[in-house]
Amino acid sequence: MSHRWGMAVDLDRCTGCEACVTACRAENNVPTVGPEQAARGRAINWIRVERYYEGEFPDVRVKFRPVLCQQCDAAPCEPVCPTYASHHTEEGLNAQVYNRCIGTRYCANACPYNVRFFDFANPVWDKPLHLQLNPDVSVREVGVMEKCTFCVQRINEGKTRAKAEGREVRDGEIKPACAQACPTTAIVFGDLNDPESEVSRLSHSPRGSKLLEDLGTKPKITYLR
Ligand code: SF4
Repeated sequence: MSHRWGMAVDLDRCTGCEACVTACRAENNVPTVGPEQAARGRAINWIRVERYYEGEFPDVRVKFRPVLCQQCDAAPCEPVCPTYASHHTEEGLNAQVYNRCIGTRYCANACPYNVRFFDFANPVWDKPLHLQLNPDVSVREVGVMEKCTFCVQRINEGKTRAKAEGREVRDGEIKPACAQACPTTAIVFGDLNDPESEVSRLSHSPRGSKLLEDLGTKPKITYLR
């Protein structure tokens, strides 16, 4: 059975702790650009936690929404790329091929979710922080666009392990770093083609909605109100 990877994020469970953000940075070698570049809008965060405030002080309620690449089925970033660096895989992932990217940034301009990041400089990890780099993930260089991959290296590892053991991938077996780190299990990842998977069940919840769904991008992330 072919896979179609998707995610559900329960906003009622999210406490805004940002463990997902930290885990994503560590897993995917996401560089820290420093305060000067950040002030110029060049910070790189494959996943960010947006904050929304309701009410007047002191009766304020804070709500959180983790935002990452929505892995859209009708991704606006894909048709604008002149080199097919941004393309759709058979498993529904919106992939980014770094060594095809020539840095036009058309994709980032087309994406309504602001989840694509351009590398304005070569990343630097001061020693001994370079020892923490994940060898399963490439370190991106200046001039390319990068973004969330749903931790494709973990997906491939899970599929390879299942194949070696002569079985199908089990639901919940593959977890992106953000889902693994979340202390409240707000993030659920899995196969939308498996009607029994938890992510399929949550994606059909009456609490579910898509981010900016009126744009017709058909995101594969469902947010539960
Ligand atoms: S780790 Fe979980 S609870 Fe914390 S910010 Fe991320 S999604 Fe929300």
